[in-house]
Amino acid sequence: MSDDDLTDEQLERYARHVILDEVGEEGQLKLLRSRVLVVGAGGLGSPALLYLAAAGVGTLGIVDHDTVDITNLQRQIIHTDEDVGEAKVRSAAERIEALNPEIEVIEHRARFTAANAMELVAGYDLVVDGSDNFAARYLTNDACFLAKKPLVSAALVRFEGQLSTYKAYETGPCYRCIFPTPPDPNLVPRCDTVGIFGAVAGVMGTLQAVEVLKELLGLGTSMAGRLLLFDALDQTFRTIRTNRDPDCPLCGEAPSITAPQAD
Ligand SMILES: [Zn+2]
Repeated sequence: MSDDDLTDEQLERYARHVILDEVGEEGQLKLLRSRVLVVGAGGLGSPALLYLAAAGVGTLGIVDHDTVDITNLQRQIIHTDEDVGEAKVRSAAERIEALNPEIEVIEHRARFTAANAMELVAGYDLVVDGSDNFAARYLTNDACFLAKKPLVSAALVRFEGQLSTYKAYETGPCYRCIFPTPPDPNLVPRCDTVGIFGAVAGVMGTLQAVEVLKELLGLGTSMAGRLLLFDALDQTFRTIRTNRDPDCPLCGEAPSITAPQAD
């Protein structure tokens, strides 16, 4: 494949993108050359990965240490019944290969930790946080800020979801500005104890894919500095403005965090 032109097959596969003035051949080539890291191949990561692969984001890295469990299948739609017991990174990679064989998938079968965060993030243009815990959210936030990579983050509980983009090295707050302290682990609702309405994961993960593609293509209005709140029971979306905290230990005026931290 030439670096400067789409092949005939690519022109066909991505025809509905290329026809959009805002994308065009140039935008599609940009997507094909892009590298996106998705942390977590779960409820958010599943739709995000599928849409990014379908859209032709050329290299997708997936970080996940877990294996597919039957309780995952209610919402983690990249995995199938046959995949139960298989590594999630493998199962996701197989599904992506079946959807779009030209995507390169890099399987990082590991937890996202303080020890590997900077190294993982360094290989990519943008990071998607699809994790299910606060430690991973602080780690992705810190690593992306320190490495100056945009982070598209979302979270879910029960019938609700939230989403924002963080690029505090350029504009807007970081995750710590908005959520300065992790909640008491005994009070944090987790989907295994309070439940999650599966399709809510589909809504939020798909919105993450939309924001990733916008960031990669430089389209529209970024979600940096805004937090989207989705309430499935009311079927309402609200967007609130978010501001940088000058006292933020990561992106504030006198930062104390110089390496990724889990809390
Ligand atoms: Zn901050």
